[in-house]
Amino acid sequence: MGGGFGGLEAVLELERRFRDDPAVEITLVSENNYFLFTPLLPQIVSSTIEPRHIVQSLRDIRRERRFRILRARATGFDLARRQVATSVGALPFDYLIIALGSVPNFFGLEGAEHCFPLYSLEHAVVLRDHLLDLLEHADHEPDPERKRALLTLTVVGGGYTGVEVAAELRDLLFRHVVRRYRGIPADDVRLLLIEATAEILVGVDPKLAARARRKLERKGIELRTEARVARAGPGEVELKGGEKVPTGLVIWTAGVRANPLLESLPGPKNPAGRVLVTPQLHLPDHPRVFAIGDNAVVKGAPPEHTVPVAPLAMQQARVAAENVARGVARQAYVNFEYRPQGMLVSLGMNDAVVNLMGVRFSGYPAWLLWNAVHLLKLVGLKKQLQVALDWSLATLFPRDTSILRRPARCRLCESGASAATPR
Ligand SMILES: Cc1cc2nc3c(=O)[nH]c(=O)nc-3n(C[C@H](O)[C@H](O)[C@H](O)COP(=O)(O)OP(=O)(O)OC[C@H]3O[C@@H](n4cnc5c(N)ncnc54)[C@H](O)[C@@H]3O)c2cc1C
Repeated sequence: MGGGFGGLEAVLELERRFRDDPAVEITLVSENNYFLFTPLLPQIVSSTIEPRHIVQSLRDIRRERRFRILRARATGFDLARRQVATSVGALPFDYLIIALGSVPNFFGLEGAEHCFPLYSLEHAVVLRDHLLDLLEHADHEPDPERKRALLTLTVVGGGYTGVEVAAELRDLLFRHVVRRYRGIPADDVRLLLIEATAEILVGVDPKLAARARRKLERKGIELRTEARVARAGPGEVELKGGEKVPTGLVIWTAGVRANPLLESLPGPKNPAGRVLVTPQLHLPDHPRVFAIGDNAVVKGAPPEHTVPVAPLAMQQARVAAENVARGVARQAYVNFEYRPQGMLVSLGMNDAVVNLMGVRFSGYPAWLLWNAVHLLKLVGLKKQLQVALDWSLATLFPRDTSILRRPARCRLCESGASAATPR
């Protein structure tokens, strides 16, 4: 279940293991008919990469393999009858691997509807368009105070997604926007990164996190740590303690929780709704039902082994698939052991911080490595070429800031935001 990092890797591993066994049917169920490479979502927001270039059609990935694809939305589980309910009918199973990913977690925030999450391709495209609407409005806003408010962009959450989004916005605004939008002076642009804990990039090596912090501050990104957003409203966020920050845009990257569909599964969950699975990755009382990636936490695993990242989902997928094969062959299951692969965080054009097997470095070499790794991990040569070309073109030409959806759907126009002073 799920055509993301975990589900796709699981189905590929199952295919390898059951290649010569036509009696075994393998089905990948996913509501999207594509695989989304989430690490590049921040670059959709900054108009560096074309949205289509970070998705790969599941059928193109499958090519000659024999597993079946069902484009359908899972709507419930009936474990007793070994069935999954989907938008196109019930699907029976003998073994089930659940990899339905996460959804944004607003932690009950008042005014969450005023924040823009970033977890899907649709989120990224909507956010990009709204950002560009905002810039168009700020460009002709005659009231200086309101202009500065529109140009205050707030990112909530100092994890790797929040940091990468803030860095991308910084590049877009200072390298492109202030040069081309005559009514947007650099001094009026304010980029705010709000983090509830004392440090950004929690879970990343502390020395590297401190280095990233210094670099972001040098780039003009305002970091507010130990600051919590208490409420979001149209045009402002309110911090705990009462401080109100006028802002044109709030991007919410402060947390995720497991797909809400998991609530209907039996057994304990962690506070983020992830299923507590056995070391063999199955549900405690259901040895044929596995949960992996963002959907699962191995009971007793150290916190640093539970951070929801793609390598965790993929490594678990391979072990879950192996255990399915072992189950079919009536062999004992193996335990999952996580091998963290380090961390790469982009700090925008020409800069990144990297921790690979204890080796820490930053700056241009780290950025080159970040690019190389992400390019290699993209699925399919065509997508790799498209993204490589997007990156090259972004260094040579201005970003394409065309808004492609209907102007009538601009939220700021709808709110009757500003007077017209064309620049
Ligand atoms: C902006 C962003 C940047 C990130 N950057 C990184 C990074 O740099 N490095 C890293 O390691 N990790 C990164 N991550 C985290 C990484 O994407 C996740 O940890 C990883 O995708 C988890 O894999 P998964 O298989 O559990 O879920 P996903 O990859 O999210 O897959 C879930 C799948 O389930 C499908 N689905 C959901 N609901 C249903 C339903 N009801 N019915 C059918 N199908 C459904 C979805 O369409 C999707 O195909 C990032 C995440 C985001 C949002």
